[in-house]
Amino acid sequence: MPIFRFAPSPNGRLHLGHAYSALLNAKLAQQTGGTFLVRIEDIDITRCSPTLADQCLTDLLWLGIEWDEGVRIQSEHWADYTGALISLISRDLLYPCFCTRKEIAEAATQKDPDGAPLYPGTCRHIPSHESENLIEQGVSHSWRLNMDNALALMPGPHSYTRFALHSLATQSVAANPARWGDVILARKEIPTSYHISVVVDDALQNITHVVRGADLEAATDLHTLLQTLLNLPKPLYHHHPLLTGEEGDKLSKSKNSPSIAQLREDGVTPASIRQQLLA
Ligand code: GLU
Repeated sequence: MPIFRFAPSPNGRLHLGHAYSALLNAKLAQQTGGTFLVRIEDIDITRCSPTLADQCLTDLLWLGIEWDEGVRIQSEHWADYTGALISLISRDLLYPCFCTRKEIAEAATQKDPDGAPLYPGTCRHIPSHESENLIEQGVSHSWRLNMDNALALMPGPHSYTRFALHSLATQSVAANPARWGDVILARKEIPTSYHISVVVDDALQNITHVVRGADLEAATDLHTLLQTLLNLPKPLYHHHPLLTGEEGDKLSKSKNSPSIAQLREDGVTPASIRQQLLA
């Protein structure tokens, strides 16, 4: 049976774009006789809070969205992500990076698919006794994927499987994880990353169908690589178009688009939102 999920990051109130993604996942689960799960992706403890997480769930319930089983809250499962990271470190697939954001911005000559500076590999060649010394001295560091080492383990083309919403028909999509370079998999201030946590949790929750916004399509190239490295099952993916605002711009929490809470206060009904989004 298919298992779908909606995985919001509670770093602000949910807006219509989230509601669309959640409603779509819940509807697909219902139509296919599958399961619908909610996961709170709150590893970014600098921006997320339990209050915001509760508010996310309140907004979903108000919209009439119900989920099966308990909600998985990522900040309660650090050990699961650490386990995956240790497995990569033990195979020489991660290395510590001591660079500051400023140093990276100054040294980078290319951008990653999110438009951030592509890491130029500065710390990749630090001998391990030197980096161990720095870590012992308490110098803060992130952990980066050694993309060359990772790719060397996997000769041949990379791909993932996309599925169509109505027929659930599948199609193989070429993936190019190399364009992410030596991506951060554990941050300086947070002992994991979105990329590690999402592949670990999708596997732990037995997710079969990932339906999420097109803004995460490029990340799937990396996720398929991590799933292979960690020997995790690979869900099927569908990336839906992002809802746009009146001026054609992407709806996001940062750009003052009305939150579900605001719409509720303004007297908008859940039924009208559902009808507007799923029509
Ligand atoms: N937590 C992510 C977000 O709110 C979504 C993760 C996913 O669906 O894979 O953007």
